[in-house]
Amino acid sequence: MARQLDPATRNALVERVRFYRDLGLTEFYRRPVDAAMMAAEPEVLPLEATPIAADAASPDSQPNIFAEEPAIAARKSISAPPEIAAAVSAEDRVAALQMIRDEIGDCTRCALHKGRNKLVFADGDPNARLMFVGEGPGADEDAQGLPFVGKAGQLLNNMIAAMGLKREQVYIANVVKCRPPGNRTPEPDEANTCTPFLFRQIDVVRPQVLVALGATAATYLLGHRQPLAGLRGRVHPFRGMQLIVTYHPAFLLRDPRQKKEAWADLQIAMKELGLSKAASSR
Ligand code: SF4
Repeated sequence: MARQLDPATRNALVERVRFYRDLGLTEFYRRPVDAAMMAAEPEVLPLEATPIAADAASPDSQPNIFAEEPAIAARKSISAPPEIAAAVSAEDRVAALQMIRDEIGDCTRCALHKGRNKLVFADGDPNARLMFVGEGPGADEDAQGLPFVGKAGQLLNNMIAAMGLKREQVYIANVVKCRPPGNRTPEPDEANTCTPFLFRQIDVVRPQVLVALGATAATYLLGHRQPLAGLRGRVHPFRGMQLIVTYHPAFLLRDPRQKKEAWADLQIAMKELGLSKAASSR
């Protein structure tokens, strides 16, 4: 007898199938993801010796779109402090991230603290080989204190599942950790105040592949503003990691036609990670 699904599971499956259909995927198979491969440790370089690609984050090699802003000053101070650098190892990443969280504390460093309910630090596996960076918390995230838990989060979960992974296998953070009023784009001074913490998180997790979700994440990770179209579809060397830029799930909810483009970007990430396709298209 066919097993009855509870409504929540059924709705999640329906949503998942819709998502695959939007990607243009109409025929499915799933090769088992090699769990050992996903758990494998990437080479961990000493933080202070991390090579910074010439085209990635160097303030000297990038046009500064925030010439009047403290953006570059913030970026110069992104290297992990000695106590964190000393703490980082495969075993101590959790502790190192907790140190960063403790340092953030009940943060009032920028104006965004005034409207927040919960500060959103991050979610996921501190040893992940794949990390997503979004823009900032929305209403659901602000209420729960976790990134990407609203509708955009459901879509991100589907994107991760399409890669053959589970959300718990990746690490997710945002440019700013407090919700901008009305979900507006963070102001440069807000993002510049908050991103040093994000960079420390990245330094601790040291994923092999970093996916910037949307223009804000791409701008503050790469250190310069450029239309998304010019950044998508390729790998950007980034502090010894590979950075891939794609659309923010919230944008994909507004314009589902772009999901195929986002899927193409995620396939680049999968290739870098050595993941086989979770689904095939005709
Ligand atoms: Fe602090 Fe970042 Fe929140 Fe601003 S957004 S108050 S810098 S944690």
